[in-house]
Amino acid sequence: MDQNRPLLRLISGVGKKGPACFAIEARGKRLVIDLGEGPPPGCLPDVAAIAPADALILSHGHKDHIGGLSLLAQLGNPPVYATEIVAGALPKGLTARTLPVQGMSEVLGIAVETGRNGHAPGGIWLNFTIGNGFLYTGDYSAESVLYAYDPPARASATALIDCSYSDYQRPLAESWSELATHLGKGPLLLPVPANGRGPEIALELMRHGLRDIFIDDAMRKALRQLADAAKVSLGDGLVQQIERLAQIAQPIDGPRGVMLAASADGASGATARLLPEFERSGEIAILFTGYINPNTPAERLSKSGRAQTMRWNVHPRLSDTVTLVRNVQARTVIPAFCDRDQLPKLSAALAPARVTMDAVVAI
Ligand SMILES: [Zn+2]
Repeated sequence: MDQNRPLLRLISGVGKKGPACFAIEARGKRLVIDLGEGPPPGCLPDVAAIAPADALILSHGHKDHIGGLSLLAQLGNPPVYATEIVAGALPKGLTARTLPVQGMSEVLGIAVETGRNGHAPGGIWLNFTIGNGFLYTGDYSAESVLYAYDPPARASATALIDCSYSDYQRPLAESWSELATHLGKGPLLLPVPANGRGPEIALELMRHGLRDIFIDDAMRKALRQLADAAKVSLGDGLVQQIERLAQIAQPIDGPRGVMLAASADGASGATARLLPEFERSGEIAILFTGYINPNTPAERLSKSGRAQTMRWNVHPRLSDTVTLVRNVQARTVIPAFCDRDQLPKLSAALAPARVTMDAVVAI
């Protein structure tokens, strides 16, 4: 390999589901991108090969992207970069240098373009002006009806892309149709992430005329943040709708209506408190709408048949991935957050781009 060519190291998150952690080495600096924990819960990346680091950059605030901050000392306590919204939710005592949700900035002298990822409050994709251009999408969605998405447009020869859904192709509108079949049959518990699809599903319920919407404290806090400090992450004209949703939604007080509560896997928060009682009742339906984390109540209840599962799209469909690869003219694509056995399908769909899961890629 050319000694002067920037390198991308895939530490975790490529080849099998796992915490996000990558590193780029360029111009004598090592930038670590994301430092997650799980899935499965407790799984941390092995950062020995990328220590010490000169900077840690966080794409968004989900656990599988920031839950590994306990490893910061192993990385030599580098400065942390994140958007103001993500920085505000980091563990106490940890300060971050601010990245814009949208626009150009610099990390250790390297110019970086960021844009909203359509996936989470304060969430961004990152486009580094190194080598022939390197795009990291983090988690993103081109379909969200709540979170704004700025499609990356700058040419990037190498792209590390969220392929959580591999070649899945059903549109988000069909997620709504499926969810609708679960409504009006009695109390329904929807365990959701409050800083992800939770507010989006609640918004869709309100838009479709449902008024029996009940939320936990985490959802209340998330709605408040979306209407205020995180409104930059909302799609156009949605602030008033979020404010109205916050007025309509009532606190969960016994089983009734549609109840949205965190955490999404039932392992903590209000769902962990509600589930022991709710799962024993034959009257209350439980519906999980995201990735089923191993070794969690979500896995136990869905495997036993007590809870039902469906997918509410929060990651790109294959057609979104194809569009993105074309738009940024990527010649090398690294699919993230899916298993290695998806490589042939993705290679076929993204040709003529080279699709690889090699541990080290020249950018
Ligand atoms: Zn995420």
